[in-house]
Amino acid sequence: MQNEKSVIDARILSPGSLAPQLTIVIPAYNEVESLPVLAKEINDVCEREGISYEAIVIDDGSKDGTFECVQRLSAADPRIKGIQFRRNCGKAAALSEGFAHSRGKFVITMDADLQDNPAEIPSIIKMLEDGADLVSGWKKKRYDPIHKTAPSKLFNAVTGRVAGLKLHDFNCGLKGYKSEVVKSLDLYGELHRYIPVLANWNGFKVVEKAVEHRPRQFGVSKYGWARLTNGMFDLVTLVFLHRYTSRPLHLFGFVGLLFSTIGFLILAGFALLWAITGEGHVRPLMLMGVAFMIVGVQFISIGLLGEMINHRMADRTHPVARTAGL
Ligand code: UDP
Ligand code: MG
Repeated sequence: MQNEKSVIDARILSPGSLAPQLTIVIPAYNEVESLPVLAKEINDVCEREGISYEAIVIDDGSKDGTFECVQRLSAADPRIKGIQFRRNCGKAAALSEGFAHSRGKFVITMDADLQDNPAEIPSIIKMLEDGADLVSGWKKKRYDPIHKTAPSKLFNAVTGRVAGLKLHDFNCGLKGYKSEVVKSLDLYGELHRYIPVLANWNGFKVVEKAVEHRPRQFGVSKYGWARLTNGMFDLVTLVFLHRYTSRPLHLFGFVGLLFSTIGFLILAGFALLWAITGEGHVRPLMLMGVAFMIVGVQFISIGLLGEMINHRMADRTHPVARTAGL
């Protein structure tokens, strides 16, 4: 939790003040030049469309005076609020903090670097009003260098297949949500890339919208090549947690059984050979059989440990969508 000083305008965040229709959550890491332009663009669009809003900028440990900029913006317009992290915690942490403070019926996230266009806000809200729970932006025409767009295509294809949700662009910063979706998300590390997957698994209706994407005007991108490999590791984690958290023995037990069966068959073969011919030399294959048996038993034990941990710690609440007569 941040200290009192780092949250601007506790007055506005205090309970009792009227909740706005929309909360805009903006993670910002060294984006001092972009923020004033972005604040003005958001204000112009929302004023024109009559949308009541609050914008929460989460300064993710910037070193360039981003937070001082947010303080100035907030002093001039109390709808703009800021939270400052003491160090760089990552985009997922920034979004998560913004979500926790959001009060709007709808929540829209957008990058601070002006690559996302606030002009998309009204149509995203319309889609949410028309029944979508999550509107995920799709940078159909993308203004990024090839070393970003090519890995990104691969990432989207793999994620879509593994997660069972077909989207062109999982990682777009511009997304719209019904409030209940963001309140249900548990983000950490770099899991922000998989928000649509998590929401979809939780039974929310996820739709995609082609959005305008603009070249970066100020500053530099905060991500490099490692994004692709890290992203794939995160996907493995996610799928594992999703499928097997509540039944670890199903996975570990299966692998363990496979190993022990192969090990057992090898050793049984040698036992038979010994019984028939009396030959009892230690062979490399025999050692492999023993190793397989041991590994197999270990896997099964890990699965059982998982079941024990699960039995004690599992969250047995269920995602209730609606109730009637309760
Ligand atoms: N960002 C952040 N923390 C980080 C890295 C990025 O809050 O550790 C913010 C960044 O300021 C920007 C958004 O996340 O508003 C997207 O980052 P970036 O533009 O660098 O990503 P790209 O558009 O190159 O994919
Ligand atoms: Mg960007």
